[in-house]
Amino acid sequence: MTTSRFVQVALPVPLDQSFAYRVPAGLEGRVSAGCRVVVPLGPRKLTGVVLGESPADPGQNAREIIRLIEDQPALSPELLDLGRWLADYYCAPIGEVLRTMLPLAGESRKSKLVGLTTEGLQAAARFAASEKPTDPTVQVLRALAKRPLNEAYLKHKLPGAAGVLISLRKRGWLTVEDVIAERDTARDKTSASSVIVQSGQTVAGRRLTDAQAEAVKAIKAAVETRKFRTLLLHGITGSGKTEVYLRAIEHVLAAGKSCLFLVPEISLTPAAAAEFYARFGEQVAILHSAFTGVERSGQWRRVRDGTSRVVLGTRSSIFAPVENLGLVIVDEEHDNGYKQDEAPRYHGRDVAIVRARAAGAAVVLGSATPSLESRYNVERGKYDLLRLPERVEKRPLPSVRIVDMRQEFAETGRQDLFSRPLDEAIQERLEKGEQVILLLNRRGFSSFVTCRSCGERIECVNCSVTLTHHRRNKKLLCHYCDYSQPIPTACPTCKGEYLYFVGSGSEKVEDHLRERYPKARIARLDRDSVRGRGQYEAILNGFREGAYDILTGTQMVAKGHDMPNVTLAGVVSADIGLGMPDFRAAERTFQILTQVAGRAGRGKTPGEVVLQTWNPEHYAIRYAAAQDYDGFYAKELHFRRMLRYPPFVAAATLTVRSRKLEEALTLSGRLGQHIKDAPGVRVQGPAAAPLAKLKAEFRYLFLLKAQSRKSLAGVLRRAKAFAQENRWPATALVTDVDPMSLL
Ligand code: ADP
Ligand code: ZN
Repeated sequence: MTTSRFVQVALPVPLDQSFAYRVPAGLEGRVSAGCRVVVPLGPRKLTGVVLGESPADPGQNAREIIRLIEDQPALSPELLDLGRWLADYYCAPIGEVLRTMLPLAGESRKSKLVGLTTEGLQAAARFAASEKPTDPTVQVLRALAKRPLNEAYLKHKLPGAAGVLISLRKRGWLTVEDVIAERDTARDKTSASSVIVQSGQTVAGRRLTDAQAEAVKAIKAAVETRKFRTLLLHGITGSGKTEVYLRAIEHVLAAGKSCLFLVPEISLTPAAAAEFYARFGEQVAILHSAFTGVERSGQWRRVRDGTSRVVLGTRSSIFAPVENLGLVIVDEEHDNGYKQDEAPRYHGRDVAIVRARAAGAAVVLGSATPSLESRYNVERGKYDLLRLPERVEKRPLPSVRIVDMRQEFAETGRQDLFSRPLDEAIQERLEKGEQVILLLNRRGFSSFVTCRSCGERIECVNCSVTLTHHRRNKKLLCHYCDYSQPIPTACPTCKGEYLYFVGSGSEKVEDHLRERYPKARIARLDRDSVRGRGQYEAILNGFREGAYDILTGTQMVAKGHDMPNVTLAGVVSADIGLGMPDFRAAERTFQILTQVAGRAGRGKTPGEVVLQTWNPEHYAIRYAAAQDYDGFYAKELHFRRMLRYPPFVAAATLTVRSRKLEEALTLSGRLGQHIKDAPGVRVQGPAAAPLAKLKAEFRYLFLLKAQSRKSLAGVLRRAKAFAQENRWPATALVTDVDPMSLL
């Protein structure tokens, strides 16, 4: 007599639990932890991941695993553990976490599996005896008697099968099952070279600066000790951080280990990938969210079978199945792009550190403007600090000029988009044939539309925000839910005819530039001008090759680009973002201003920066203008300590959402009662979120702060259990640990 074996399976459902299934006799010995299986859940069939043996016999009710997708586990024990950590730390359902970790969804497509019923099988036996092999029915029945088959495959293989299937179905001889079919992935090992643009300029073999050499040495030492260590590489803009990374990777590969290199979404351009490819060839795998599902899973498989030992990609590449990890690099570690804004709401940098710790690997966090959290970890002795305090070849930092727009207004009596100093600086660059980068960190033409008679601002129907005027597309657009409507000719409320378009966006900057400098060649870079894969790259390449004189746009123009001919960086309004109701507003402003300033003067000619502002005394603007990171850090850290914000507390938010205002209000009130006096945790709220309505849902927000992670996690779990016990819809409660936004 054999006893049945049961395993726990994680399924992609928003529930904090896994499910027990019986292992059928045919799969005995093949189903192990990390394997993907197809199982029934209610009337559905879902793909899940086996977590391990069931601790207790779940009894006779347990259902059977339908199918094993592949014998080799998709997740190694190391990655399964990382998944468990994520689920625990971010209070996220394990099934959703594991689904995020596996970029294999692109491999499956829906199809129909046809088989025979008992009568069908009997009929097949009778037909087989009668031997009339030319009859398509006999053929089809024979094939199906052996095993169920994919309907499309059958129709393709056996001409006439389509008609036969219809008649078999009518007689009740056929079973039809919807399945998720897996692709034949052996053919899909797309090589890195086929998914990137070749540009092939390589810079190997050049002399490192002393600071670069020091940093490379420290990283090598950390890798060699095989002990987990985190190094913060604080290198000013233009100090040559990339070269440090590349040398460190060479070393890791030579030592027979693997390396993960993470970049924020926006900086992973095909050109960056090409540089990597030029150095490391087929050893590189590239994981990019712009790739199709098939391309991504092809890359993933090259990593798993060991073909690629360097993985370059955005945040989810931290889950790449490399073995023998030696080094993880997180470039631009301060960038918000590392935080996923849907469940599981993980931070790629923080997951990187956890993974490296488990693997005994070194971590390098690189930035010109490190996050307060990371820099503070240096102060606490948790990280080592490596500095690149100078630009390569001793190039000077650009000189920065702050233009007080209040004074400009007082003197000129006009509210021009470009002040006189900015205008002169641009003019000068155009005459000299040098290039300009101009930032206005807001999309669209005008920020909003208001009525002169009744003062009404035109808002989104789904969100509590004003609609932005996009002149190119002739519409008003919501930047949160993409709702759009035609530009009205009269006020929708009072029918007044005088509508007033207020504020400026990147489209307006572009128009003003074209008007003011008719001969200049101008390109705009923002989410509206960049549509689809390749366009971002095309604009940047065009600018790099000198096809444009001026590049204007949103924060996209500020990120990491190395354009030697840019000698002027201008900021049309340095104040955007400062007024945000978020404790990180100043930090973010400082970062973006420092980064954009860092685009100027990276070549032989020194650069200049012009910052226009209505708040010239603000410390974020002053320190950015002075390129004084340490000064900013000290001041901001002081505020965070006084006001008890991260990095001095562990923070999380709970958002209660409902399409009905009344319900959002009562549910959040009840939850508040339930969690308000948790020991060791300060609960603020519920209060209407700054974005009180988003995508047609009303939102109430709690901010939780605690000294210990443990007490914080305790309250979050209590809140989730409360929602589950009271049968709240799965979408009603959102948990965000270490939130990057409090909107
Ligand atoms: P960062 O990322 O620190 O802002 P980059 O890595 O983009 O700086 O490097 C700035 C520029 O300096 C690049 O053009 C790079 O090729 C060049 N560079 C880097 N290291 C050296 C070096 N040792 N000697 C000469 N040029 C270098
Ligand atoms: Zn909206």
